[in-house]
Amino acid sequence: MSFPLVGNSKVKGAICGAIACGKIPHAIIIEGEKGLGKHTLAKYISAAAVCSGDNAPCLKCAQCHLADIDSHPDIATIAAPTGKKSIAVAQIRELIAEAYVKPHQAARRVFIIDGAHTMNEQSQNTLLKVLEEPPADIIFILIAETKAMLLDTIISRCVLFSLSVPEENEAVKYISGKTDKLSEKDIREALNSCGFNIGTALNVLSGSKNAVKVAAEQFLEAAIKKDELSMMKIAHTYEKDRVGVDGFVAAIKYEISLAIKKKYKSKITAKKMFEYYEAVTLYEKNLKTNINLSLFFAGIICKAVEIF
Ligand SMILES: [Zn+2]
Repeated sequence: MSFPLVGNSKVKGAICGAIACGKIPHAIIIEGEKGLGKHTLAKYISAAAVCSGDNAPCLKCAQCHLADIDSHPDIATIAAPTGKKSIAVAQIRELIAEAYVKPHQAARRVFIIDGAHTMNEQSQNTLLKVLEEPPADIIFILIAETKAMLLDTIISRCVLFSLSVPEENEAVKYISGKTDKLSEKDIREALNSCGFNIGTALNVLSGSKNAVKVAAEQFLEAAIKKDELSMMKIAHTYEKDRVGVDGFVAAIKYEISLAIKKKYKSKITAKKMFEYYEAVTLYEKNLKTNINLSLFFAGIICKAVEIF
């Protein structure tokens, strides 16, 4: 199986090298914003760790097959429970107890901590104990949106892989390879609207009329009419959706980019559309912090009324 990420050549070199000589680090942090492929990479490393074939992950052996369908008994993932924002210390304690159990099928066990940046200090310190003296044949993979939320002591015990957005042409090539229905121009526009984040661009492009796209179209229509109430109603669905909000905002920007290119009728000038595009882009940066999403939407709604 070839390396699954686009771009990220340094990460690719380090990981493929480690796998090839059978020296996958026992503790790994995969860091990067949503849509860059953190989970895809974690899955690739996990499969390589349990693979019993040649050229791991071979995707031919039973171990790889189980890893691929997320059913391998030696690969476990923990994440914040549904409705909770962070991983609890009790979950880390359970994970540690589990880590001392021998592998069931493979030569190693893999524990993926999804959303590691949500662990509080107590949880991280609890995890630290096992990272300091790891049981044999265990690999911990911490998936984090940013390493800034992790303790230095945790970071120093792990090998860090920071993912970045690929070059535009690489990203276009990748998405073009996934579908023959989209024009290169559409792909470039979608990538531009979301800062070349492939995951988000694929969400924007997937199916021409998915729920996010429809919501974004309606949001922009309401924005043009300065219809604050309708904008608020549409935004309400995403106010509690930290995961979906990025895709929604990227979809709004994509719709604005279409409007700038006059792909549909509107009285608004391209200049004003561009002004709004820039305003949304500026507000979008706040999504990387822990901004209250109601405040975020209030901001882009006010800007629409001001500009249009
Ligand atoms: Zn295999």
